[in-house]
Formats: sequence, structure tokens, C-alpha cells
Amino acid sequence: MTELLSNYVGGRWQPGTGAGTPLFDPVLGTELVRVDATGLDLAGAFAFARDTGGAALRALTYRERAGLLAAIVKVLQANRDAYYEIATANSGTVKNDSAVDIDGAIFTIGQYAKWGDALGDARALRDGEPAKLGKEPVFLSQHVQVPTRGVALFINAFNFPSWGLWEKAAPALLSGVPVIVKPATATAWLTQRMVRDVVEAGVLPAGALSVVCGSSAGLLDQLKPFDVLSFTGSAETAATIRGHDAVARHSVRTNIEADSLNSAVLAPGAAPGSPAFDLLVKEVVREMTVKSGQKCTAIRRILVPEAAYDAAAEAIGARLAKTTVGNPRNESVRMGSLVSRAQLASVREGLQALEGAAQVLHDDRAAPLIDADPQVAACIGPVLLGTRTPDAAQAVHDVEVFGPVATLMPYRDLAHAEALAERGQGSLVASLYGEDAGELARLATALAASHGRVHVITPEVAQAQTGHGNVMPMSLHGGPGRAGGGAELGGLRALDFYHRRAAVQAGPAVLEALQP
Ligand code: NAP
Repeated sequence: MTELLSNYVGGRWQPGTGAGTPLFDPVLGTELVRVDATGLDLAGAFAFARDTGGAALRALTYRERAGLLAAIVKVLQANRDAYYEIATANSGTVKNDSAVDIDGAIFTIGQYAKWGDALGDARALRDGEPAKLGKEPVFLSQHVQVPTRGVALFINAFNFPSWGLWEKAAPALLSGVPVIVKPATATAWLTQRMVRDVVEAGVLPAGALSVVCGSSAGLLDQLKPFDVLSFTGSAETAATIRGHDAVARHSVRTNIEADSLNSAVLAPGAAPGSPAFDLLVKEVVREMTVKSGQKCTAIRRILVPEAAYDAAAEAIGARLAKTTVGNPRNESVRMGSLVSRAQLASVREGLQALEGAAQVLHDDRAAPLIDADPQVAACIGPVLLGTRTPDAAQAVHDVEVFGPVATLMPYRDLAHAEALAERGQGSLVASLYGEDAGELARLATALAASHGRVHVITPEVAQAQTGHGNVMPMSLHGGPGRAGGGAELGGLRALDFYHRRAAVQAGPAVLEALQP
């Protein structure tokens, strides 16, 4: 029997009382560890986090809590090698892809440590200037932001077991709010190990960080009015969560990051062979293959001027053909596996749905794998689809295939490109490639209404740019509509979610004496 990973709740390690759900190596098919959350006293766990963890964190200043984040960075850095090993074994990712998850997390916590340090010795934040409530400045309104007196429950997706935890935990802990994380079962090991290392290092107050591995059953029932819930995963589960009785009854503040049909748009003037054209091709291939396309921000739809359609299909296909797929332990492999055989089945099913609406332009589905058995491994080569009639092809705007798959489509003019991008009904990110600053700025503003982030690439930023799919802590992560309507990161804006805003109406003496 493999090791049963323990849960950390109520300030102690507690194994579940069931047999456990096994986690697998998606390349070799071997069982790695088991997780189980049966029999946990969840009410006690939430109360301990809320009362003990919350009180201890709120007693600290922002600067002191930023110090806790800096200490977490040190712990994670010291154990980095173990995290890479777990990622290879449990997520089937090559080193570069594991880095997005592991080093991306460490970088994000480090940023919040810096930003938090600059907030200084306060325990609450003033929000704007006092506003007069009458003619004279005798009675005024000052808004303040104070940490919510509840727990932050994170329910996370399988594709970022490390970054998914820390991009949320960094702003939560900095705000003074304790965290309970429930990682997706398939890849829970890395999350659990990181929490274990941080707990064992003793850098956080008791109750500040808890982890529940296994079923989500009963977690949402524990939510109370001042708790917050942050969910990342499929739109379907998101809908169930929104409709949950405790969430609705207690108005639990909820952030949802769901699926997204992100676009890359080549500007009208960018002819095949131009620097902008080449930059789009390179980025599309990178986005399709990084983490085998299992990124919520990955490019799913490629919009090019009609005249560039054939050249784009050829250039993207030629580059995709160089992608070596298989066992991430083999140095010659560029793209590892999907996270599980279940995901492989889901990608194949999604591809079938897209093939009803688009043609196959490049197909490496059956390409030979390096060092991996196609009967066992959850590996699949990249597939580029295309449709010359994108207005009629509803599925390509609707079906998110969470794998190395994207669809190319032509547009007539910029208004058409904008309309097609909006067919995603709200997305996390769109990237634009061109040279005309005015034209790109107009399109960026137009797409800002339906996207959380617009990434604009001109030749002069080619070296400095951070990548279409890379989520930087300085920028907002989230998107309206189908993308879930969430808002994470964006520098200190992320703290809003974990604070309560209130207006204090009083005279100048009281307002000055407010101790933020
Ligand atoms: P999922 O099936 O919705 O699962 C997400 C999480 O919800 C898991 O922890 C899962 O636990 C839990 N869960 C499942 N049913 C639940 C329920 N009834 N109540 C409470 N929790 C429940 O999604 P996934 O397949 O893991 O993730 C892939 C999707 O996530 C993709 O669509 C992708 O676009 C999206 N995603 C979005 C972002 C973003 O930032 N916008 C980032 C990453 C992924 P179990 O694992 O134990 O079932």
C-alpha cells in the first residue's frame, strides 16, 4: 500500500479514516500516494482556523505578516528539489513546465512580501480621503478596509497545485486571513508537501494554514458570513458552488476562476513573415505546448486576417511538428503528459466536438511517444484545427479542450476580430500582435470589456514581454462571464477580497485617531 497523506486541520496532522483515493504517475501509470479526508471534524477545523489562526494573524501588522511571507519563500526555496520530483511524478511535467507552477509560486509570494512590507506597521487600511457630509468639514466620511474575521477556503484545480495555492494564500495571509486549502485530488501531493514543509518550519501561527486532501464533501457547509471562498476549476463545478446553500444564505464572498476560450489576434497590417506574424506563431506554439495546454490562460483561438490564414496554418504547423512528446524524465522531451488518463479521454472527446465544427490542420495525436507507452501514458501530441467560417462554428467558441489544442480562424476587419474574441463570452486574456500603436491601443480598450487582461506585443517589446499565458502578480488575473467573473492578483488590489470596506462617519478628531 502507498503512503496515505495526512490532512493538517485544527493545528494537527490528521489522517482520514477511509481507505483513500490513489494518486498516479500519469506517464508510468504507477500509484504514488493516497489521500483521504473521511471522518475529519470540519466544524472544529474551521473554528480553529477562524478563531486561533485569524486572531493571531490580525494581531500582526502588514509588515510583520509580510515577514511571514518572506519566511515561507525561504522554506519553499530550501525544498525546491523535492517539489520538482513530485511534479514530474504526479503531474507528468517537464522541468520548464514544473517551474511555471513552483517558481511562479515562489516569485508571487516574494512580490507580496515586498508590497506588504511597504504597507508598514498598520493593521487596517485607509481607503481614500475623508469626504465632507455637509457644507463644512465638521462631519465626514472616511472609508477603511479591515481584514475579514473569517477563514479563506480555497478549492483548487489540478493544473497548478503549487501556484494555485500560493497566488491566493499570499494576499490572504498578508491581509491577516487564515487559509484552508483543498487541492484537486489528482495532484494534491505537491500542495500537501508544501503545506507540510511550511508547518514543520514553524513560520506561521497555529491555525493560519490548513490543508484538506481528498473529497470536498462537507467543506462548503462550514462557511459562515465573514468567510470567503475562492474557487478555481470548471464552470460546471463553479455553478454548483454558487448555488450552495451556505454560500447563498450567508452571502459568502466568492471568487470564481473558471474556464476560458482565450484568443491571440494578429493585427490587420501584420503580413506573413513580418516580425508581428512571427511573434504570434511562436507564442501560439508555446501556449499550446506549455503544460501540454493545461493552462486556464492558454491560447485556444487564433484570429488572423483572411489573407494570412494559410500562411499562419503552415507556420504554426511547422513549429508544432518539432514538439517532442513523452516521458518528462527524458531530456529530449519538450512536452510531458496530461495530468491523468481521465483528462486524456476528456481531451479526445473535446477534439471530437471541435472536429464537428473545424478542419484538422496539423495532427500529432498519434505521433510516437518518447520513452512512454501510449497504452499507459496520458500523453497526446498537439493538434491545430481551423475554420474559414468562424461565425457559424459555435463549438470553437464554446468548447474548452484542456490540452495542446487550438483553432485558427480568419477575420474580415477589426470589428469582426473583436466580435469573434467576444464570442468566448468573457475570457481571461487576449493577446494582440502588430506594429500600429494607435490601432492596437483601440483594440486593447475594446477587448478590455470582455477580458481580464490584454497582452499587446509589438516588435520592440519582443524580448521584455512576459508571455500571453504567464500570470504576473502585478496584473489582474480573472475575467468576466464564462471566465468566472473573478479578480485575483493585480498587486495590492488582491487584498480587497480579504478585507471588508466600511465607512466611518465622524468628526475630524475621531477620523484622525482611527488606527489603520
Ligand atoms: P473541477 O473538476 O471543477 O475541480 C476543481 C476543484 O473543485 C477540485 O478541487 C475538485 O475536487 C473540486 N470539486 C469538484 N466537485 C466539487 C463540488 N461539488 N463541491 C466543491 N468542490 C468540488 O475542475 P478541474 O477539472 O480540476 O480543473 C480544470 C478546469 O479549471 C479547466 O476548465 C480550467 O480552465 C479551469 N482553471 C481555471 C483557472 C483560472 O485561474 N481561471 C486556473 C486553472 C484551471 P476533486 O479534485 O477532489 O474532484
